Amino acid sequence: MGKYGEGCAIGIDLGTTYSCVAVWLEQHGRVDIIHNEQGNKVTPSIVAFTDDQRLIGAAAKNQAATNPENTVFDAKRLIGRKYSDPIIKNDMMLWPFKVIAGVDDKSMIVVKYHGKEKHLFAEEISSMVLTKMQEIAEAYLESPVKNAVITVPAYFNDSQRKATIDAGAIAGLNVMRIINEPTAAAIAYGLDKRANCKKQRNIFIFDLGGGTFDVSLLTIKGNEFKVKATAGNTHLGGEDFNNRMVEYFVEEFRRKSELDISGNPKALRRLRSVCERAKRTLSWTTCTTIEVDSLFQGIDFCSSITRAKFEELNMNMFRECIETVDRCLSDAKMDKSSVHDVVLVGGSSRIPKLQELLQDFFKGRDLCKSINPDEAVAYGAAVQAALLSEGIKNVPNFVLFDVTPLSLGISVKGDIMNVVIPRNTTIPVKKTMGYHTRVDNQSRTWRSQVSEGYRAKTRIQVYEGERARASDNNLLGSFHLSGLAPATRGHILDVTFAIDENGRLTVSAKERTTDNENEITITNDRERLRTEEIKRLIEEAESFQAEDKKFLKKANAMNALDNYIYKMRNALKSCSEENEKISSAITKATNLLDGGNNQLHETEVLEDYLKELESMFQHIIGKIC
Ligand code: ADP
Ligand code: MG
Repeated sequence: MGKYGEGCAIGIDLGTTYSCVAVWLEQHGRVDIIHNEQGNKVTPSIVAFTDDQRLIGAAAKNQAATNPENTVFDAKRLIGRKYSDPIIKNDMMLWPFKVIAGVDDKSMIVVKYHGKEKHLFAEEISSMVLTKMQEIAEAYLESPVKNAVITVPAYFNDSQRKATIDAGAIAGLNVMRIINEPTAAAIAYGLDKRANCKKQRNIFIFDLGGGTFDVSLLTIKGNEFKVKATAGNTHLGGEDFNNRMVEYFVEEFRRKSELDISGNPKALRRLRSVCERAKRTLSWTTCTTIEVDSLFQGIDFCSSITRAKFEELNMNMFRECIETVDRCLSDAKMDKSSVHDVVLVGGSSRIPKLQELLQDFFKGRDLCKSINPDEAVAYGAAVQAALLSEGIKNVPNFVLFDVTPLSLGISVKGDIMNVVIPRNTTIPVKKTMGYHTRVDNQSRTWRSQVSEGYRAKTRIQVYEGERARASDNNLLGSFHLSGLAPATRGHILDVTFAIDENGRLTVSAKERTTDNENEITITNDRERLRTEEIKRLIEEAESFQAEDKKFLKKANAMNALDNYIYKMRNALKSCSEENEKISSAITKATNLLDGGNNQLHETEVLEDYLKELESMFQHIIGKIC
């Protein structure tokens, strides 16, 4: 039985750059943000591979500069996207690790592990980060954890959400629900400020993290949380601000030394990490210096940057953030003066210029900074996880009404996107629309393929997105309604879209006169990992963990032997008689250790020799004392 009872369900904020895990503690009636083994409440979403081991979190980040090709970050930008996606093509130019096209145009990350090339899905990298967060929670709770609520940006599309669920499954987690990050942050805000929310309050959540930007407008009234509108950009955040600074200094280095480092991953990585530090510093000072020893070809680089320069470099992105805020408000048909609180979430929301622009936009309204921007999302996820768990009574109850982030519809004649459920519609939702089939043979439109004299079928293609041309949007799936009776005039089909509380979409079509019916649940199988593939990846994840354990066991064995040598050396100083015997035993042990790291000696050899030394030493100690 763990410290806080078996079967706690956790909330995981799986961030692009940092992840955070939290749990609802039933006995104490509060949420705890769980710190990792280093005492930090956020853990870098980074996985690295070396010849000896796999590293996750801070350990991976710390060695990134010396092993850039095998240090994988930004998996959240890759997840649920095809290799040919132009966004991926752009990102690839900045990543020091290699990404190639896999089966069905899936992106595969290439790393070297144990001396061999390995191809990994983005889902696998995310699953490794999830495993790390699970382990952090298990160490804290002193019990196994299986159930989790995972958050995603509100703007994530269907395939990105489903790929995140797959990552959870590979990590061996039961993903109870996927919820939107700003909604989770609003839950944290709502619980913190319960007293304020007796009357309806309109809350604006501004979440700017490392790689994604998400805004949501919610109303909170008593226990009811209703999302009115969401907007965002899956490709805007702190990493982009870092990149702008990197580009600026690459140019300066080129000017000063006439050398171009843009093709050197190691130099870029080192420069990027000092730029990130400088960016954080500029949130509280107006000027800072950067220094990288031997950046390239032995040349040191030293420079400085002002807050004003940093703002100038990123101003168009800052303005884009404010435009997104504006769009979200107009989607919700709400005037900015009706917003009661503006809540800042995500590390990049600490940037003073952004706060200033936001405050100006909201006409001088104070921004709410009482919620920790790094922790709010995991906090809300943990509360949601507790609410979904059986046997938890103490948790504040609330009802959450989320919205669909993208419009959903079908393609009609002329490749036109006919929206059935507009974006920002509250879910769960069910909506039916009637369509007339045409009496001709135009096979390219879903309405057709009906002609006199034979039974015909109609193809229904379901899309998500905001573009007017259906094929410019994301095709979620298609199905046929067959056996349509011959008709001289068009049939009337009722097409129904139903979305449940998990965002799962079912589309059905029915011929009005005959009750002929067909339906599909949109699963995005083309882009998702297949069941057998997930099974294989779960096994692979287990073997990764077994290898990690083996490595740790060996490191512990080496440490124990090393400690013992130290003890023996100390004892030697006070005893001269047995000197020679002990000396030669130490030399043998030291030789074993020297070869130990490069796999020359198995763990058992080290453990056996430690036992031999212990018994020899005990015998000698007995004689001395
Ligand atoms: P994500 O949820 O996308 O992983 P986080 O919310 O954890 O991201 O935010 C991480 C980002 O915030 C990083 O890009 C980091 O550099 C940036 N950040 C953290 N603290 C500050 C700060 N004081 N000033 C500016 N940026 C910051
Ligand atoms: Mg975040």
